[in-house]
Amino acid sequence: DLILFWHRRDLRISDNIGLAAARASSQKVVGVFCLDPNILERDDVAPARVSYMIGCLQSLQQGYTQAGSQLLILHDDPCKALPDLAAALKAKAIFWNWDVEPYSKQRDRLVSDALTQKGIEVHHHWDQLLHAPEEIHSKSQEPYTVYTPFWKNWSNQAKMAPVDTLHQAEGLTPEEQETAQQAGAIALPTAKDLGFVWDNELLTQPGEEAAQAKLAEFSTHAITEYEEQRNFPAIKGTSELSAALKFGAIGIRTVWAATIAALKNSRSDETQASIQAWQKELAWREFYQHALYHFPELADGPYRDTFKDFPWDNNPQLFQAWCEGKTGYPIVDAAMRQLNTLGWMHNRCRMIVASFLTKDLLINWQWGEKYFLQKLYDADLSANNGGWQWSASSGMDPKPLRIFNPASQAKKFDPEGEYIREWLPELRSVDTEYLISGDIPPLERHALNYPAPIVDHKQQQRLFKERYQQQKAMK
Ligand code: FAD
Repeated sequence: DLILFWHRRDLRISDNIGLAAARASSQKVVGVFCLDPNILERDDVAPARVSYMIGCLQSLQQGYTQAGSQLLILHDDPCKALPDLAAALKAKAIFWNWDVEPYSKQRDRLVSDALTQKGIEVHHHWDQLLHAPEEIHSKSQEPYTVYTPFWKNWSNQAKMAPVDTLHQAEGLTPEEQETAQQAGAIALPTAKDLGFVWDNELLTQPGEEAAQAKLAEFSTHAITEYEEQRNFPAIKGTSELSAALKFGAIGIRTVWAATIAALKNSRSDETQASIQAWQKELAWREFYQHALYHFPELADGPYRDTFKDFPWDNNPQLFQAWCEGKTGYPIVDAAMRQLNTLGWMHNRCRMIVASFLTKDLLINWQWGEKYFLQKLYDADLSANNGGWQWSASSGMDPKPLRIFNPASQAKKFDPEGEYIREWLPELRSVDTEYLISGDIPPLERHALNYPAPIVDHKQQQRLFKERYQQQKAMK
């Protein structure tokens, strides 16, 4: 019997639960990926992300070829294209792995219904999380809305080991390949073919092999100093696995197994704490995915009432300056230039620029959320939304109002101004003290063609707090 496996954000062959189940049910397993116009034609798609995704698909196609089968590519609405393809090939069943996003959930229901109507079986699995959303809940059976109790529960649950791979499978016959083409299967296009131009290098190479190499390197080296180094944007102290995790170029069980192996090899309390600090970040990823699954309304607006109808200024000129990295605050501008050039930004800087947009520029966090989606090669609805709501103080975070001071952040986390100099080469010759405080003498600033600060931090902070208190009193 022919089984189709529909890849979505699991662009790999190894440690893939749904694919392993498909293979266990039949020898003949063919992969399919659908380039979905409902996603690709939105106005929040980053060229860098598409470029990474296409690279992953190339590598996945090679994986299928090596196993003796094929990965078919469709470019149409999956609700129609997939059932048509499955029917044309007389497939017995389609397998896929669940996702948490509101769009995916709705699309999957439609695809499922269409397949069932055609008499084709549908099989679902959870794969992208160590624990499915329904698995982790409070004593009163509610989903968690606060991270710390979530972590305590989540970290105590037994985790699955990586699952076995599709070593060898049977693919389509030449006649079936012909049928697949008639039903819409195409050659894999490039990102450019799809209208996305990304000429810069990506932070990491796409594909399964590259992701595994990155994990191996990180989990045997930098992970042991992660707790200390992760906050310094000039240091490569983090895993750089975010895009691989977003597109599933690596299995989450494989990643977890690497942390367990690292813990076994670690000799000191400090390294153990560091490895656990990284495990906690993986748990943040799951926390936000669970949150989006249970509260899909998060995708559309603030979680907290105080931020519903918040009187933002939403000044388009200030927004433009923020996007271009021309705010006159060196740490903010360096970070935005990193984002625009690399399609990635260090986590510390994501928090700094998000706080600056919302609390200094008084701009709705959703503008920033969308800009990140338009640029980040690792953008993920749940993590991005969670990060923005956390930074705006509109989300599931019990802490009181958090406002970052750009100068204190720079002083603490880029004390020598290395990161600022890397991304703002025009300021290379400026004294470190000025780079950090942002108080570059006007004449020097002028000569370097660097803008004056577009707002006054203290004044804006006061303004934000006033509005916040007013809103709070009203709600
Ligand atoms: P590491 O430090 O090595 O972390 C390991 C993995 O854990 C990451 O790859 C990621 O999958 C996960 N992770 C780490 N921190 C978080 C977090 N706070 N929330 C959820 N998952 C986390 N991460 C994304 O993957 N996609 C996004 O679109 C995204 N947008 C963000 C927006 C804002 C405003 C903020 C403050 C954070 C955002 N993050 C996002 C979280 C974090 O910044 C990135 O995951 C991290 O910088 C990626 O680099 P890394 O892989 O080297 O991370």
